[in-house]
Amino acid sequence: MSTNKSNKELVTLIKEKIAKYSLETTISYEEGQVISNRDGIVIASGLNSVMLNELVCFENGSYGLVLNLESNSVGIVMLGKYDDILENSIVKRTKKIISIPVGDQLLGRIVNALGQEQDGKEKIKKDHLIPIEKIPFGVMERKSVDEPLATGILAIDAMFPIGKGQRELIIGDRQTGKTTLAIDIIINQKDKNVKCVYVAIGQRESTILNVHQTLLKHNAMSYTTIVATTSSDLPSLLFLAPYAGITIAEHWLSKGEDVLIVYDDLSKHAAAYRTISLLLRRAPGREAYPGDIFYLHSRLLERAGRLNKENGGGSITALPIVETQIGDISAYIPTNVISITDGQLFLNANMFNVGQCPAIDPSLSVSRVGSAAQKKYIKQVASSLKLDLSQYNDLKVFSQFGSDLDHETKNILDHGTKTLLMLKQDRNSPYSQLEEAVLLFAIKYHFIKWVPYDFLVAYKNDLLKHFKNHLLLKKLSKSLSFDENLITSFTKEFKIFTHKFVHKIPDHKQKNNYDLEELK
Ligand code: ATP
Ligand code: MG
Repeated sequence: MSTNKSNKELVTLIKEKIAKYSLETTISYEEGQVISNRDGIVIASGLNSVMLNELVCFENGSYGLVLNLESNSVGIVMLGKYDDILENSIVKRTKKIISIPVGDQLLGRIVNALGQEQDGKEKIKKDHLIPIEKIPFGVMERKSVDEPLATGILAIDAMFPIGKGQRELIIGDRQTGKTTLAIDIIINQKDKNVKCVYVAIGQRESTILNVHQTLLKHNAMSYTTIVATTSSDLPSLLFLAPYAGITIAEHWLSKGEDVLIVYDDLSKHAAAYRTISLLLRRAPGREAYPGDIFYLHSRLLERAGRLNKENGGGSITALPIVETQIGDISAYIPTNVISITDGQLFLNANMFNVGQCPAIDPSLSVSRVGSAAQKKYIKQVASSLKLDLSQYNDLKVFSQFGSDLDHETKNILDHGTKTLLMLKQDRNSPYSQLEEAVLLFAIKYHFIKWVPYDFLVAYKNDLLKHFKNHLLLKKLSKSLSFDENLITSFTKEFKIFTHKFVHKIPDHKQKNNYDLEELK
């Protein structure tokens, strides 16, 4: 009886094998035929065993990316020339997903989303290719943010410090200095052992050229790679660009290094993906974006972070950029990215238009994890800044209605306007952390009150010159915090300096509302 049963089992097993065998050998699933080719989207039949995100090759030598799998056909988005792909032409599987070259050979180079050189220099070696999709590191391999990433921007380092491994969104209307801010942060990484990747997503060629020129001028290309896609590129390349960028960054991360990556910008990335999805006839959702747009950005930004010692201790700090329409941060893509990141720097168009650059809005910006990584001496002198500015903003609105202001209100308003002027910063001129400490000291202990508004910029410049290589700063960089002695010595030095500066101003007594005797 039992032998009978096992014989039966054996027969079914053999039958199954035979059935499978004939399927695998007699029909080739490795090739298919083009059914239609419309707007860079090819529908093909016959590629029954093709995988999602697999590369396929066409007769004209172009490649495509499989993004839709349906019962009788597949949807392919083209990565190259597609106007000569005809109906019934052959498309073949490559059994590969998109991989790009990585490593130090990319430093100083401009590449496209497929890792091909765009700068006319020597060919990039393709001996070490890495797939651009990867599952991010898990929780246990990570470490919380505790080391500062100096941005060199006073307003950021003082009020919204960024730590290595943090994801901080730069958000604002068009032409509010978003790109400039990100580039300034890259420039400040010079000699700090941080490699940088700037991903341009659908930017104008002139913008990319300017970024490249600026980085070259400040010797920042030696540690930077530009992944460039322009507005005239295919949407598929725009869609792939940030994944290519993070793959390049991850290679350095795996070697225990610190990397900074800028995505400029994710609004254009979302729009490119929306174009692809609509052409693929996927169902549109809110604002016509496909349902998986949130997943698209979260799986990208989750690849940034800080690893623990056992995993090399490297970090990827991500600065995604998102463009808003008339300051509306509650639109779909801004709210999505805000909820994925660890904070945002909101660039206010009104501030930008009155010349308050960088136009970081203190009331709408936040850094949720960075304060754990802020340098102690910066934290000590920056502690009151945010509160002072919000008090100033409240009173400013109020003071527009009444002309009779009491003494204290006047002081707060005066301090606020002067603080904002101190926070103004030219593009491409980052401060060192010690310089920032000096400027913040002048704000916190109200030394700026004796300097008339029109002379404040000169005061700021002279102050930095005066403290350059100063013994007190050397002491501060050693002790890493302001102890009581240091505060007394700094105060003394500031009093002497400010007294001298103010007395050089012609008619300084008429221009000053405060008692200069206090400075003695
Ligand atoms: P887009 O929306 O077009 O991408 P954006 O928000 O990236 O614009 P930028 O291109 O960085 O803005 O800057 C817009 C203009 O403002 C540029 O001409 C730039 O030089 C100027 N600008 C930006 N930041 C500063 C600054 N701190 N000081 C002076 N000018 C600045
Ligand atoms: Mg820009």
